[in-house]
Amino acid sequence: VDVLIERLDVIIEQFYWYFLLSSEVVMTRVAVVGAGQAGLIFSHKLLSAGIDVTLYSQHTPEQWLRCCAPTGTAFLYDDVLRIERELGLDYWADHMHVGDGLLLDYCGDKNAAPITVKGRFGNKGAAVDQRMKNHRWLHDFINRGGSLITENVNLARLDEISQQSDLTVLATGKSDLSKIIPLDTTRSIYQKPQRHLAMAIVQGVDGWREKIGFNPVKFTFLSGVGEYFWVPYTHKSAGDSWSMLIEAKPGSSLDCFTHCRSGHEVVSQAKAFIKKNVPWEYETIKSMSFVEEDEYAWLKGGFPPTVRKAFGHLPSGRPIMPIGDSSVVFDPIGGQGGNNATRNAFAMAEQVILRAENFDESWMNAVNQNFWESTAKNAFKFNNSLLEMSSPAMLRLIERSADDESIANQHFAENFSKPNAFYPWLDDISAVEQL
Ligand SMILES: Cc1cc2nc3c(=O)[nH]c(=O)nc-3n(C[C@H](O)[C@H](O)[C@H](O)COP(=O)(O)OP(=O)(O)OC[C@H]3O[C@@H](n4cnc5c(N)ncnc54)[C@H](O)[C@@H]3O)c2cc1C
Repeated sequence: VDVLIERLDVIIEQFYWYFLLSSEVVMTRVAVVGAGQAGLIFSHKLLSAGIDVTLYSQHTPEQWLRCCAPTGTAFLYDDVLRIERELGLDYWADHMHVGDGLLLDYCGDKNAAPITVKGRFGNKGAAVDQRMKNHRWLHDFINRGGSLITENVNLARLDEISQQSDLTVLATGKSDLSKIIPLDTTRSIYQKPQRHLAMAIVQGVDGWREKIGFNPVKFTFLSGVGEYFWVPYTHKSAGDSWSMLIEAKPGSSLDCFTHCRSGHEVVSQAKAFIKKNVPWEYETIKSMSFVEEDEYAWLKGGFPPTVRKAFGHLPSGRPIMPIGDSSVVFDPIGGQGGNNATRNAFAMAEQVILRAENFDESWMNAVNQNFWESTAKNAFKFNNSLLEMSSPAMLRLIERSADDESIANQHFAENFSKPNAFYPWLDDISAVEQL
């Protein structure tokens, strides 16, 4: 009997090691290519569930901080900032330059006074320098057990990477690599950029708080010409500042930034345009200057808003799943892209954690369809309606918001963070009359 008990101990120990080792062998391995807002939120959420994540970043954390241009502005609404907080990634809440609402001047006719809307978001939002977030979050990723590889991934490498993982996720934004995911031609509307963009991080703007009682994102819509706006911004070294973004309709009088070769040139061109064409706005921004000590803090270019399919195929035939801008690209006009990218990354990570294995094409289709219907579809629709400004219901909403503060708050400004709340009524001018 003693011998049997001794052997039983050995057998139990062997079973223990067998299960321990085999559970390590089957641990889900996920590769994430692209370390921006979407790739980092997705990776951190998976890490928090104990999943083995390898993240491929084009730049080291130090490069992100010292020698990269911003990928955008990304003013994020409160529900999205809460996702960052939930993942232990919100380091800036106490000292970021927050926006409480929006101030919109809609100039329909050159000779008529602008229609002005003042609306509060309900909760504060903020745009924190993405380069500073990437730097901190990449260090956190390593410290929390993730594997970080600094590499500019090409298609052949992407295929190799996918062979070593159970799921490969593409979070490379608007890069050429994202084109491996086919366009969804039923959901995409545009083939060409709708605006020529120029962005610069600026200081010296007086702001609008004294005039309206809160700190807004300031929009100016010039019918037929385009838009420009200032977004409260927290720059990595200068702190409180503004991201100024020009959205020029191609060929319009505002389309005069394509030759700019520096942030300084973007700022002086913007001041000259505003002084000449929108003089009543000039006083507030006449001391505006390009942010000091950061030659990279500007962008110019253009891209069409697009929606891609739920997956693409690598040369080996394996499927690859997009998140963030690799999946849906928004024009910056309505501040939807970074918000959607974060919600998308978080929701997709939750689905990966639930599924744990067998990430096949039908699963990718199902999770993509679910996110599109529940979240992205109306954000895309609303954002594009701001680009078009052709719907009588949208124009009437702006007029009614200008006359009635509660409509401006509840039915306009607050809904920027939850575009589902705009529909179906924003399709119907009589519903807007009844608000
Ligand atoms: C001017 C401008 C203003 C904007 N303002 C707002 C706003 O106010 N609010 C808002 O919500 N959204 C805004 N957006 C949109 C927002 O910036 C994007 O939606 C958001 O950054 C998308 O995040 P992402 O991680 O999907 O892509 P990205 O931020 O583009 O990140 C992609 C990452 O992939 C990496 N990468 C690319 N190619 C490779 C490769 N081959 N190998 C390895 N890595 C690679 C890049 O280095 C980058 O880190 C704005 C965009 C622009 C351009």
